Amino acid sequence: MQWTGLNELREKYLHYFETKGHLRLGSFPLVPKDDPSLLLINSGMAPMKKWFLGQEEPPRHRVTTCQKCIRTPDIERVGITARHGTFFEMLGNFSFQDYFKEEVIPWAWEFLTGELEIPAEKLYVSVYLDDDEAYDIWTKKVGVPEDHMVRFGKEDNFWEHGSGPCGPCSEIYYDRGPEHGCGKPTCKVGCDCDRYMEIWNLVFSQFDSDGKGHYERLPKPNIDTGMGLERLACVMQDVGNLFEVDTVASVLHHVERLSGKKYGENEKDDISIRVITDHIRSTTFMASDGILPSNEGRGYVFRRLLRRAARHGRMLGIQGPFLTDLVETVIVSSEAGYPELREHEEYIKKVIGTEEERFSRTIDAGLNILNGMLDDLKSKNETVLSGADAFKLNDTFGFPLDLTKEIAAEAGIQVDEDAFHVEMTKQRERARAERLSKDISGWAADLFGELSAEATVFDGYDTLNESATVVALSDGEEICDAVASDDSDPREGVLVVLDHTPFYAEMGGQVADTGYLSCKDANLKVVGVKKTPKGYFVHTCTLLDGTIHVGDEVNASVDTGRRAAICRNHTATHLMQKALREVLGDHVHQAGSYQDDHITRFDFTHFSAVTPEELAEVERRVNEKIYAAIPVNINNLPIEEAKKMGAMALFGEKYGDIVRVVDAGNWSVEFCGGTHVHNTAEIGCFKILSESSVAAGIRRIEATTAYGVLALLDERTEELTRTAVALKANNIKDVPARAEAMSAELKETGKQLDIAKAQLASTQIEGMFESAAIVEGVRIVTMFLNGTSPDTLRNMMDKLRDKAPDAVGALIGTQGEKTTLAVGVGKQAQAKGLKAGVLVKQIAAIAGGNGGGKPDFAMAGIRDTSKIDDALNAVQDIVKKELEKNA
Ligand code: ATP
Ligand code: MG
Repeated sequence: MQWTGLNELREKYLHYFETKGHLRLGSFPLVPKDDPSLLLINSGMAPMKKWFLGQEEPPRHRVTTCQKCIRTPDIERVGITARHGTFFEMLGNFSFQDYFKEEVIPWAWEFLTGELEIPAEKLYVSVYLDDDEAYDIWTKKVGVPEDHMVRFGKEDNFWEHGSGPCGPCSEIYYDRGPEHGCGKPTCKVGCDCDRYMEIWNLVFSQFDSDGKGHYERLPKPNIDTGMGLERLACVMQDVGNLFEVDTVASVLHHVERLSGKKYGENEKDDISIRVITDHIRSTTFMASDGILPSNEGRGYVFRRLLRRAARHGRMLGIQGPFLTDLVETVIVSSEAGYPELREHEEYIKKVIGTEEERFSRTIDAGLNILNGMLDDLKSKNETVLSGADAFKLNDTFGFPLDLTKEIAAEAGIQVDEDAFHVEMTKQRERARAERLSKDISGWAADLFGELSAEATVFDGYDTLNESATVVALSDGEEICDAVASDDSDPREGVLVVLDHTPFYAEMGGQVADTGYLSCKDANLKVVGVKKTPKGYFVHTCTLLDGTIHVGDEVNASVDTGRRAAICRNHTATHLMQKALREVLGDHVHQAGSYQDDHITRFDFTHFSAVTPEELAEVERRVNEKIYAAIPVNINNLPIEEAKKMGAMALFGEKYGDIVRVVDAGNWSVEFCGGTHVHNTAEIGCFKILSESSVAAGIRRIEATTAYGVLALLDERTEELTRTAVALKANNIKDVPARAEAMSAELKETGKQLDIAKAQLASTQIEGMFESAAIVEGVRIVTMFLNGTSPDTLRNMMDKLRDKAPDAVGALIGTQGEKTTLAVGVGKQAQAKGLKAGVLVKQIAAIAGGNGGGKPDFAMAGIRDTSKIDDALNAVQDIVKKELEKNA
């Protein structure tokens, strides 16, 4: 057996099965397509279910892949066992009703012992209890000695998932030697320790189960196998665990360097190093498939893994963010098998960097709260943190449960996990209920689920008006043969399925068409269209009059003006995406989109606000393409050819062999099923309405075209005209100058007013002198002045001090919401020890205010205006006390 690198092993395997007539396919994305039962792809067969069940024809009946997989149930074992990662690659060969046990068992043996030269005496094989067939092939045909064979029960060696295809399996184990074992006398194949490591599982799906214990032998069974690539590499490279395999070890060593810890010196640190190594691989691959951190579903898995890695980084003493650095190493080590990693490099780094940064901000806040909770429990001698508290930490501070558990465990406290999960389930149900209430498509799918008609043919790319036949009907409650209008009132919610239709169904962000269906006996208005998973276009209609029957021939006509407006907005969206990538960079990817007849809304990945200059540039480039009047070419092409054209695909989306490619002027090329204009000139013109943030790292632009732009112009003109009238400008053009002049005039008037008020006030002050109280030779002047600015108060005080060096003045003025106290102390009064800064504090305190200043002048804000009189009346006493103090 010779040392072989992981990338080379992958190639050897795929090549070997190619020589056995298999079609090699690339890895499917981690996000399952049309499979709500699964959050993330966890095995080679998971994305191929439809081919196993015969629901879809596979491209060939023998297929081989190397599939990227995520298994979160293994998370607790990661870093602890030698053989579990949350991320790993699974090699597989698959037979869809083609070859069976007779072929696959000898191939597996030949690949391991022949191609890779693994010594046969190191291998052990398990079969299912009564699977004598497999047992005989292994022992008689292949020649595995009986003492290397074991039989396991249903628990371990029978693959079953609800009803449907299922069957026994056969696992191949590699004996890594007693030094890797648990040392117990009972240790043997199947022990949970790391000695006998399962490397390959061959599944023989030969039964059809009704889910109730009845198994029918399938006439044409399937084969599905799975071998962990890292585990195989671990064997071939004779290393301690998955993380020491060549490609993975480059990541591990990078973690070592970042943390300054040496791997192999301390088991606790080693676990953290392995956890980080694993989790950064999972998250890099998840980000590359378009998964963004969130609090739900796969986004939550992503967040949890990433935050767990960050937390282990802290445990190793790494200061500051470090995960983005590691991404590069992951890409370098895996790009041979997964070129998409390099393609999405910039994007992956941004997603991971942003989330790590967010986390470091929340972790400190959350840690404080958690530590508070823990202290509280300890002081009460309690040992369990409640589920509600753990949920709160999770919901508010983004603390994954396992992180809370780890930190609590360090303090000797457990977490009530069951109660936590109850809270989580409640939250998930709330979210689901909300989704369902917004979406009728699932319901319509059920309603027409039993229909046996062919899927609806969509003709709406080429025509907007055609005749078609009604194949199914519903009054909104159940399937029926005919629906009649209620007397003269229109009847809403009538659902019509046609054999073919020009109506576009809501899809890919584009809204559905509206229009009319009419036949001999009835007229219907189409208000919405949805496509069910089986391919039926369900037209939601209002029956205006008459009766419609299944089998009726109808004239289906789309509202052409509205459709044209939608096309303009859709093609403009493509041009805008291209312009955004040119102006902002290639990290811009579509994160969501919506087009109707008024606007286009486009969500995309970008990590700061788009500046007004950038927006203007995007707008300019899109309009340039519009005025250049370039034809829009739409072609159905083989996917490889489309990729060569540089067509932009949606992230994490798996496409069929033939894809529809929309090419707007050789400039913007995208995979798209929507409807478009024929020539960019039809768009008329393009205008951005707004730019905003929708989530971390996601921006939204709303824009409009043609009539939308004209409407905007009308609206703005109308606003300006009204402004002009209000400003008494003769012409819109004069508005800015008029507005500037008016505001200057206003400012000047204000100044004049202040001067007038000051003059008035000094006259008042003159008057005040006469009635001023005199305390031990100090004249005390107090006054309340409505509508006086702080500046005016200051001026008045200056005058007062000049005029009367023996005086203390206290003035309170209000302007708008603001009330200010000003205190001035003349020279002679100062000589008696009075200080404005001291007096102002005591006076202001009476009216809930505070301030300060110098001996000659001080100011304070006043909060409680009902106490203004009290404050002014207290001045005499305050001055008296101060004089006494200084006497
Ligand atoms: P184990 O019992 O060792 O966890 P399993 O029974 O879960 O393995 P299968 O579901 O049969 O494994 O998956 C097929 C193969 O995928 C396994 O034989 C193994 O080589 C690999 N594999 C499974 N889980 C992991 C994992 N968490 N990390 C790495 N490789 C794995
Ligand atoms: Mg497992």
